[in-house]
Amino acid sequence: MNHDFDVLTAARSWRVERAEVPTPAEVVSEVFARDVLTLEQLKARLSKPAYRSLRATVEQGEPLNPAIADEVALAMKTWAMERGATHYTHWFQPLTGSTAEKHDAFVSPNGDGLAIAAFSGKELIQAEPDASSFPSGGLRATFEARGYTAWDPSSPAFIMRHSNGATLCIPTAFASWTGEALDLKTPLLRSGEALNKAVAPALHLFGASVGTRVVSTVGAEQEYFLVAEEYYFRRPDLVMTGRTLFGARPPRGQELEDHYFGAIPDRVLSFMTDAELQLYALGIPVKTRHNEVAPGQFEIAPIFEPSNVAADHQQLLMQVLSNTARKYGLVALMHEKPFAGVNGSGKHCNWSMSTDAGENLLEPGDTPHENLQFLFFCAAVLKAVDEHQDLLRVSVAGASNDHRLGANEAPPAILSIFLGSELTDILDRIESGEGGRGPEAGLLGLGSSVLPPIPRHAGDRNRTSPFAFTGNKFEFRAVGSSQSISFPVTVLNTIVADAVQILTADLEARLARGLGLDAAVGELVRETYAAHKRIVFNGDGYSEEWQREAQARGLLNLRTSVDAIERLCDEKNVRLFERFGVLSERELAARQEILFDIYFKTVNIEGETTESVAQTMILPAAVSYLGDLARAGGSRAVRATAAEVEAATDELYDALQTLREQNRALGGDTVHEKAHHMRDAVLPAMAGVRQAADRLEKLVADAHWPLPSYRQMLFVK
Ligand code: ADP
Ligand code: MG
Repeated sequence: MNHDFDVLTAARSWRVERAEVPTPAEVVSEVFARDVLTLEQLKARLSKPAYRSLRATVEQGEPLNPAIADEVALAMKTWAMERGATHYTHWFQPLTGSTAEKHDAFVSPNGDGLAIAAFSGKELIQAEPDASSFPSGGLRATFEARGYTAWDPSSPAFIMRHSNGATLCIPTAFASWTGEALDLKTPLLRSGEALNKAVAPALHLFGASVGTRVVSTVGAEQEYFLVAEEYYFRRPDLVMTGRTLFGARPPRGQELEDHYFGAIPDRVLSFMTDAELQLYALGIPVKTRHNEVAPGQFEIAPIFEPSNVAADHQQLLMQVLSNTARKYGLVALMHEKPFAGVNGSGKHCNWSMSTDAGENLLEPGDTPHENLQFLFFCAAVLKAVDEHQDLLRVSVAGASNDHRLGANEAPPAILSIFLGSELTDILDRIESGEGGRGPEAGLLGLGSSVLPPIPRHAGDRNRTSPFAFTGNKFEFRAVGSSQSISFPVTVLNTIVADAVQILTADLEARLARGLGLDAAVGELVRETYAAHKRIVFNGDGYSEEWQREAQARGLLNLRTSVDAIERLCDEKNVRLFERFGVLSERELAARQEILFDIYFKTVNIEGETTESVAQTMILPAAVSYLGDLARAGGSRAVRATAAEVEAATDELYDALQTLREQNRALGGDTVHEKAHHMRDAVLPAMAGVRQAADRLEKLVADAHWPLPSYRQMLFVK
């Protein structure tokens, strides 16, 4: 095999099959949301009463009136067919973390050979996919395997295009017939409601008008790698597991840091422009794009949106990136750690709360009154994160993210909050009650005449924190690049709802005792900060000292996902989710089961793939090279090389025997036991095989080596 040939093919194989027009500004405004069934679109197509009723559902969260379903369905179908859609699908997010769709044709042949278009209100509102293969964590017995999808009118329907047609996608929730959530969207919607119910009364105390609604807002920054498909398909590990299970470090990695924010190569830029155009058509407001730290790594970020829409859009974004890359002879890798030794990929989840009037509740204000409210919600977030470190850690659990968290390039598995020096300073001063008590003492009744105004958009360039205040929002950075943001956001919404509810009751009690709002909030913030400030850490999260200090502070350090998943169903968490109606105990237990199961299966597939690649590709390469050396005669250089290759080959062989045993063992009957076995026995055995194989890669002649190298995959563009 001549692998230089691969390099050239890879470099040349990109092509633009359908020359899409680039995106000058005027085109964007024309294209934006072209394939989205917006309320505006519906207004033109529905009767006034039907439109009003639907709008109340979308904007006020009122129950959907089934009487309008037929009319809405007809409008949807007409709109979609005018845009070339031939099929529709209920689009949902099963517990695998990806999306699912089953297409039905609008037009179906009838007995006379004529085509009729069928899509009624019934089919819009509810469908029953043959979904028995989706994980249910025991929520469905196999004899009752049915689940149904139900329309979520709060996320607009859209058209997904492919090279030869288009499909109307209707965002839906997925549940069992007993009403239990089998998806990621249902609890996300419930958590949004919980947050609204908890925060609205608090806002009321700060003078907001009755009827103010609150939503959480999310903007998720997506990191990903691009590799030439020529290489990708020659790497069974990438194809099977999404990451390289072998690969010696190249002489040059990201040391030069010349890739970060560097000029984007033409091929990549063309791909990005194409993908963005499609994302705009889907109404996804992508805004920034740039090179990331590692060679071959990139980022795309949208403007924030209400969290349930943002979660749907995030799934679509990953799908569009993946599909579009192929048009350019590239494959987009969403895995958290596709390449050992270079940075992994995250999905920074920017989170805040907003009123329906668009007021950002985490935006420090210009007036003392606004700052009072800001400090109240800020304190609530501190309390929430400190009390529920375990839940935030579980929300980012997964075998792939474990390679990234704590790997000195991504935040550690310890949860802490970066507040920045200014805000920390203000809270410290509030806590100590420091400051003048003179006549001007205004803000918080704690001597605000000496308190500096809270800086707006205080820059945070500390990338080492898993949870950072970035001026007017919190950025949850531990979220993995391949995962759905739904569960992390569900957890955030719920834990903040919990903290806000407790603090609101506390505030009401203080007000009832006759304290003024300033003084009451001042006391509350002081006490809350004192109780939870151990969670605040502004230093270097990658450092060894932090590991020790965090332990001294009593913070959790759930190093592996298995440790984290084990906490999910703790009493505290069951009570929390049940109290807010976000997840029942059974639903939570099902999720725990599925998380263990996915962890186990992920590592199991990696273990099997490592074994087969090592046995059938790497070992033969080493042996055939040894044959070459034997034929080359007995010069000193040949003998020495052969001895080295032989030693590494034996090492590979031995490591392979160990891995084979561990792969066969599985480790127990429950998914929990199996997950332990994968973590404690299979992963170390895989590492042993990799070590020997990577050593061989540096010894065996290039022409014999069966896998594209890191050097090729990361640097040939
Ligand atoms: P930074 O420079 O800190 O990364 P940006 O303004 O570039 O900040 O925003 C990063 C991401 O945060 C974007 O996706 C943006 O839409 C999102 N974001 C900004 N404000 C909010 C908010 N109030 N709620 C949620 N996400 C937000
Ligand atoms: Mg950011």
